[in-house]
Amino acid sequence: MANLKIGDGLDGKKNPFLDLDQGGNVMAFYIWIDGTGENMRGKTRTLPRKPTLVSDLPEWNFDGSSTGQSTGENSDVLLKPVAFYRDPFRRGDNILVLCETLCPDGVTPHPTNKRHACRERMDKASYQRPWFGIEQEYTMFASNGKHPYCWPEHGYPGPQGPYYCGVGTNRVHGRKIVEAHYRACLHAGIKIAGSNAEVMPSQWEYQVGPCEGIEMGDMLWVSRWILSRVAEDFNVVISFDPKPIEGDWNGAGCHTNISTEAMRHAGGLVVIKEAMANFEKKHDEHIQAYDPNMGEDNKRRLTGAHETASFHKFTYGVANRGASVRIPRHVELEGCGYFEDRRPSSNADPYTVTSMIIQTMILDGIE
Ligand code: ADP
Ligand code: MN
Ligand code: MN
Ligand code: MN
Ligand code: MN
Repeated sequence: MANLKIGDGLDGKKNPFLDLDQGGNVMAFYIWIDGTGENMRGKTRTLPRKPTLVSDLPEWNFDGSSTGQSTGENSDVLLKPVAFYRDPFRRGDNILVLCETLCPDGVTPHPTNKRHACRERMDKASYQRPWFGIEQEYTMFASNGKHPYCWPEHGYPGPQGPYYCGVGTNRVHGRKIVEAHYRACLHAGIKIAGSNAEVMPSQWEYQVGPCEGIEMGDMLWVSRWILSRVAEDFNVVISFDPKPIEGDWNGAGCHTNISTEAMRHAGGLVVIKEAMANFEKKHDEHIQAYDPNMGEDNKRRLTGAHETASFHKFTYGVANRGASVRIPRHVELEGCGYFEDRRPSSNADPYTVTSMIIQTMILDGIE
């Protein structure tokens, strides 16, 4: 069980109120992306019964002037449920509800709603059955947010080398959180595919996928919310900053693995290599879409060192972890499969990333 914070007043015992029955009601936790394009917000409402379809879920609203999403005078932003998942924290019939944000007219997507346009592109491209798998890297920080979890308060741990996929108290920190998050994702129905300790101590990765179309963005955002929520119970802060510690420390990315139906079957490698020419032409546009601040965040990470490519130039190669796009060795050997875009930063919006990829890889050619 989670460690209770000092001051919770339960002397380390499980909270007994959580066993009370709910009188047949469902607690629905509505989640949305706020005005930063990076942080998430959420709030609870009671539903009289368990929904079966997303259309059973009522629309709702929140105060956009408190989330960087509107001015004081016309502050209501609407919440439109788009997907729901089992709630691994409240359990039972309780649910997490992922929402799009709409303007007060109830129709126009809010300017901070990146899902709407992504969804339109995914619908147009669906005949090619695009699959994605995202490798989400992140860093655990101490509760004061000042230094990575279990790092010395002043100074640094020993240099990188022993930590990646490591074992032992001196090599990995926060495994209990990683395990809790993995289980919580499985319980919720998120397609978590794996996890590993990363190169910098207290940095970790998990993968979500393969997911088809819009499901990629939906599941990655919910998995991020679950991660930060799990970490609350351990008094740890999750950072998605792409370069949390300057110097000889690896940054954090969101490697995005991509394939279409044609790429997954015989002759697919040729289709992948053809796509590379289009990716090369639009490198700058992709970079702008690959973090929430038009490339500014990723500039600190994409230095050409620490298993990254240069911010300024597109490159691709087989098994090359110093290239913008890597074609895995086994894909070359088998002649089909998928490719990995290594540029997106750990705090990138997966809707914006997958939307950009679909535009370049499919829609530019048919529009
Ligand atoms: P890496 O070797 O770069 O560390 P990982 O094993 O961490 O790769 O992640 C690979 C990701 O690729 C997983 O999320 C997986 O779901 C995804 N993936 C596997 N096959 C495909 C495919 N055909 N199309 C898209 N994504 C895929
Ligand atoms: Mn109020
Ligand atoms: Mn990986
Ligand atoms: Mn990694
Ligand atoms: Mn990778």
